[in-house]
Amino acid sequence: MSEQQNKGEKQYISRRDFLKGAGILGTFAFAGPFFGEPLQQIMRGNVWEDDLHGIGTANEDYGAGDIIYSTCEQCNTHCTIKTFVKEGRKGQPYSSLVRKIAGNPYSPVTTQPFGPLDYATAVAVAAKGKATLAVEGRGYRGGRTCLKGQAGIQTAYDTMRIRTPLKRVGPRGSEKWISVSWEQAIDEIVNGSSDLGTPGLKSMWAFAPKEKVMGDWEKVKKGEMTQQQFTEKYKDVLIDTKHPDLGPKSNQIACLGGNRRDFMRDRIWLQGVGSINFDDHGSS
Ligand code: SF4
Repeated sequence: MSEQQNKGEKQYISRRDFLKGAGILGTFAFAGPFFGEPLQQIMRGNVWEDDLHGIGTANEDYGAGDIIYSTCEQCNTHCTIKTFVKEGRKGQPYSSLVRKIAGNPYSPVTTQPFGPLDYATAVAVAAKGKATLAVEGRGYRGGRTCLKGQAGIQTAYDTMRIRTPLKRVGPRGSEKWISVSWEQAIDEIVNGSSDLGTPGLKSMWAFAPKEKVMGDWEKVKKGEMTQQQFTEKYKDVLIDTKHPDLGPKSNQIACLGGNRRDFMRDRIWLQGVGSINFDDHGSS
């Protein structure tokens, strides 16, 4: 190919590129009002602009002082988590903002299948993770959570988030609720609600040991004790004195616990409250 041909080709391509470019600009001019912000970001040279998308960049590096270790409350599993928190903006409602949620790298709960960091690892080292964010695009800085756990940020700052207890004010299923204070909610849960006609936990918290109750029940069946005597003896503690197998009144209270809550189940629920009704929920 001659030099002239080369020049011509270059000129031709250059014109075509110009026309393509003009077309794109025309499209931008037309579409601008609809896609203004993304286009502005491209023009500024940072498609993943942090302030707008919250994706995070190498500029938003953090250290141990920016981390709070906590537990996820997105479900009853209560996974161990690590949150990166930064200062909120002036004039905005939040004094600090959670920017990232990950699993706690020290915890066996959220580091499967790799295993937790050695507990002797300094928090400053743990904060930096095992890789370079700027080079590798990720830092391996935390353990794992499920997606619902990571969405905790959305829950925390959801403008529709329910911040106070809700009390039903219509019949069940009517979907009518009012906001009440925590004090009122606790009082009605413990002592009962006169307007709803619901009993309080206080009236259900009664216990009798199974061996003693069933021993007496055997006597009733053998005719060594009357039903009336049995009822009189246990009417305040059993759900139904004609069906002692239903157990104490405390069995009317159920706890929806979570995975790995054995301590809560055994010490607080079974031995403390005296109810056998504890349901494990698990997802990880
Ligand atoms: S399973 Fe997911 S939503 Fe539930 S506590 Fe763990 S991270 Fe949070």
